[in-house]
Amino acid sequence: MNASSKKGLLPVIALVAAVVAIAAFVALSPGRKTGTTPTESADKVAVTVFPAYDIVRNVAGDAVQVALLLPPGSEPHTFEPTPSTVRELEGAEAIYMIGHGMDDWAATLAESSGADKVTLDAGISLRPIMEDFGTRSSSGQEGTVDPHYWLAVSNAKKMAKTAAQDMITRFPSAEAAINANLASYLTKLDALDANIRQILSGPFMSDLITFHGAWYYFAQEYGLSVRGTFEPAGGKEPTPKYLAQLGDVVEKLNVETLYVEPLFDDALAESFAEEHGLKLAAIDPIGGATGRDTYEQLMLYNAQTIRAGK
Ligand SMILES: [Zn+2]
Repeated sequence: MNASSKKGLLPVIALVAAVVAIAAFVALSPGRKTGTTPTESADKVAVTVFPAYDIVRNVAGDAVQVALLLPPGSEPHTFEPTPSTVRELEGAEAIYMIGHGMDDWAATLAESSGADKVTLDAGISLRPIMEDFGTRSSSGQEGTVDPHYWLAVSNAKKMAKTAAQDMITRFPSAEAAINANLASYLTKLDALDANIRQILSGPFMSDLITFHGAWYYFAQEYGLSVRGTFEPAGGKEPTPKYLAQLGDVVEKLNVETLYVEPLFDDALAESFAEEHGLKLAAIDPIGGATGRDTYEQLMLYNAQTIRAGK
């Protein structure tokens, strides 16, 4: 081999080296850049229900990936996880839950995936479950705590802080981003709270008959009274005797509206409303549907619907 042919080889070697380097770089790049491989390397948490998910994703911003486990439109109390729920959960270090019987199905998922369960109720004064006509339960068996605490904005702020704290502990490099996101989200929640108070000021029917016992925190926060629920406590079917008692409450208080919920399409509620001359209006404890696809929109929607009584 003479000198001139050696010189001719050098550029070829350099080119091969460059190609190998590029190939190695592409192979080592995180999957999320190409979208073709799972993203298990990313910092990730999962959340059971939509309102908590929206609160957590506001705090997480771009710093932490957040997955929603309960598909919008599914009933949270009775949900059965599917293979796609398990896929959503993949790579999540923690499952943020409401707890207190709301999303028990997540406990099994946490066990099988190895994710930690974190209930977002820290610092929240939890209410006892109310019996059928807004009286305190004396039964004290399973599920003695009313789990619908996210329906008060002051509690949503506490949930945001709990989630932020937990994510910072797990992903310390995201601390600055999470703290900044938290601060700006808390400001938004304060504005939301003021907005709801504005909507619910002035005279209107503040005695509510709701479909199920989801609205006691909302009522307590905003000066309303839940006087009865169409579905007796514990998700039972109302008996004729129960409906007669509820009818008495409706007549006595001159209630004009029965507040049903999007996930319950109940002919029995419709015929009760018709019998007592009640309008039907839907309020939504969970959200995720069009027009209610943030926690803020969801809460405004509920306040506006209750203010209008229709
Ligand atoms: Zn509920």
